[in-house]
Amino acid sequence: MRKLIAAGLLTSMTLFSFAQKINKIINAKEVERIETVLSSDDMKGRKTFSPDIERASAFIEKEFKKTGLKEFPGATGYRQEFNMIESSNTAAIVMIDGQKLDDSLIAVSSFQPKVSLTEKNTETVNIKASDDFRKKYSEYSSSKKNLLVLVDASFRSYASRLKRRSPAKFEQPDNSVVFVFGINSASVFSIELTNNIIKRPLNNVVGMIPGKSLKNEYVIFSGHYDHLGIGKAVNNDSIYNGANDDAAGTTAVITLAKYFKALNNNERTLVFVAFTAEEVGGFGSQNFSKQFDPEQVKAMFNIEMIGTESKWGKGSAYITGFEKTDMGKILQQNLVGSSFQFYADPYTTQNLFYRSDNATLARLGVPAHSISTSKMDNELNYHKVSDEIRTLDMNNMAEIIKAIAISSKTIISGKDTPTRVDTKALN
Ligand SMILES: [Zn+2]
Repeated sequence: MRKLIAAGLLTSMTLFSFAQKINKIINAKEVERIETVLSSDDMKGRKTFSPDIERASAFIEKEFKKTGLKEFPGATGYRQEFNMIESSNTAAIVMIDGQKLDDSLIAVSSFQPKVSLTEKNTETVNIKASDDFRKKYSEYSSSKKNLLVLVDASFRSYASRLKRRSPAKFEQPDNSVVFVFGINSASVFSIELTNNIIKRPLNNVVGMIPGKSLKNEYVIFSGHYDHLGIGKAVNNDSIYNGANDDAAGTTAVITLAKYFKALNNNERTLVFVAFTAEEVGGFGSQNFSKQFDPEQVKAMFNIEMIGTESKWGKGSAYITGFEKTDMGKILQQNLVGSSFQFYADPYTTQNLFYRSDNATLARLGVPAHSISTSKMDNELNYHKVSDEIRTLDMNNMAEIIKAIAISSKTIISGKDTPTRVDTKALN
């Protein structure tokens, strides 16, 4: 008898302390403390490449350090640093079979200051009228060879759209690719390019809690800490605070890290990441996805805009790309008996699955979804200067963060492994 009573007592004490623990760590006061800093006017809207975003990074790093997270391999402290290399072509002299080409017929992807190309060091390829221009353009502009691409005249309108700016890269390529429009053959040519190269530093903020047994199986919790910066003033306010987008997700990442660190029972390795540069093209998550084998990532919870009430009311959120894996069903199952509800994304025509950092990992097969409460058909402050902390519900936000923690339970324990995204079926 005694033993049984003791065991029963122990179970209820464990449950009690679990409930206490989650409320002690994830609560409205703590959420408000973090949100207040990230969405303050002092951060000036956390614009990518601005000195202001640096203050947001420093704050998140400090929180990760206080939490006692481990550093991610290859990072400098909690900073996963990289460069975006941009190049604009300032001069291009193109002679093909004795004819000098007009500037308006040339587009360039080149990352060396001075370049000389001739038929001796450069391959010639064609984009024909029957080709898919965008597909061929992206294939050739990411080629590792020097290329002269002869583009059919029917695609002429792209020449001015592509202008003279190369698509930004993480590494500085040695080769150059020159597109010329309206020319179908070239036997002898010479091309002289002058380019202006700029390296712009960026960083994600990353920390982790190594798994107890499944160390090489990652579960990622992410949000993006960049926003739009400063824009046109509306009612004397020009700062896009991005309190909901996505200081809210970043706040969730920080609080979840504190919670799981206190629990200290994860079998899989948990990775917490605040991405940079989501709003300008997702460069942060793209760089992050190159730092490990995507097969190692068993699930990704990307948290985007959870500061307002969802269309179903308090304590509920939706999961983007719900049907693409069974991760959503696992999360729903783990919430059975709780006061929380997760639904499938109701705004499917808006393609939200592809509009945040989860998409980068999903394209590599990772079960990677965004969790959000944002009413995308009617979210009044979305991408406006009025996206301020006063428009958010701190209590509900704390509840949603708790829901995410609880919903992830069987995934971080290794009991459940979501199915993978079928990359062939993606857009
Ligand atoms: Zn966002």
